[in-house]
Amino acid sequence: MSLHLENVSFTYPGAQHGIEAVTLAVEPGELLAVMGRSGSGKSTILRLTAGLLNGYEGRISINGKDVAGVPVWRREVGMVFQQYALFPHLSVVDNVAYGLRMRGMSAAKRRTRALDMLERVGLTEHAGRRTTLLSGGQQQRVALARALAFEPKVLLLDEPLAALDAGIRQQLRDEIRSLQRACGATTLLVTHDQDEALSLADRVAVVDGGRVLQVDTPERLYTQPVSTQVARFVGHSSVMPGRVVGTGAVDVSFAMLFADTRAFRPGDKVDVLVRPEHVQPDPPEAAINRLGGRRTEVRYFGATCRYDFVPDSAQQPLLCEGRQLAEHAIAIAPEHLRVLAA
Ligand code: ADP
Ligand code: MG
Repeated sequence: MSLHLENVSFTYPGAQHGIEAVTLAVEPGELLAVMGRSGSGKSTILRLTAGLLNGYEGRISINGKDVAGVPVWRREVGMVFQQYALFPHLSVVDNVAYGLRMRGMSAAKRRTRALDMLERVGLTEHAGRRTTLLSGGQQQRVALARALAFEPKVLLLDEPLAALDAGIRQQLRDEIRSLQRACGATTLLVTHDQDEALSLADRVAVVDGGRVLQVDTPERLYTQPVSTQVARFVGHSSVMPGRVVGTGAVDVSFAMLFADTRAFRPGDKVDVLVRPEHVQPDPPEAAINRLGGRRTEVRYFGATCRYDFVPDSAQQPLLCEGRQLAEHAIAIAPEHLRVLAA
């Protein structure tokens, strides 16, 4: 089942906030993550897709069929939220079976199906317990089992791991991925956590201020961000404001850097970006884009180090990463500089 949002705009009544002209295409079986900071419109996208919010412009369709006016329970979307939203008065197995009852399945079949789902999330032995007796991670597994029990066309996950401790989060992240693969559910996952988005998703939509900035594979988002804004959301990078001075050269105030400027004309204001791992420590004298300077802060991360290097005459340090630390100079190969419109 595919899920399409085409030019969807929505404003909360009486507020200026919402989303604007959001276009997203989730292919059958794909897991697309919507990533952005708090307040960027992620949950709004999800609520509109689920049918929990109405009165939008544009088109939302599941498998090519416009879902405008289709009520929540007819959309066949499974939902999991940050707060588990389980029924405290029902047992674990009854929570999972709940959605099936609404869909008219017999009691015996509901139980069989719910137990099967619990086995998949490793909670068989907890079937008869109250959900309030479970840990956060276990409760979220119940929520997942409940969401997937009726084989939804679309699975919607709103920050499903945000309330969990780091260790459990990592584990459940992997479980969500394998469960989603096994079920083949077309999935929209909302998160503010870039590690989560990049490691879980087939593709990631970066959103800010209610707009989609870029939709791409995790790798392309990292290597080919379309804007400085996207680059700041995905991994670390140093940004050097500058001006294109000729073909293949940018003046970044403290130096002249050689880079691919084919998309620009002389005089254009640009940002030159470099990822920390692409900064070469203590290069030969003749290296291209060699910058003398001094190392300042060093942070150790086991296998690697991150450190700051301030080029001569520069105001801001460049973030560098590697096992070898630069002493007096760095260099950045032109192909590792990304020039973007300022
Ligand atoms: P996110 O999930 O990315 O944190 P939301 O989609 O919840 O963001 O919210 C997007 C914007 O809409 C925010 O500015 C938020 O304050 C605003 N907003 C969210 N819910 C409501 C509401 N019920 N009424 C008015 N404004 C809202
Ligand atoms: Mg939210």
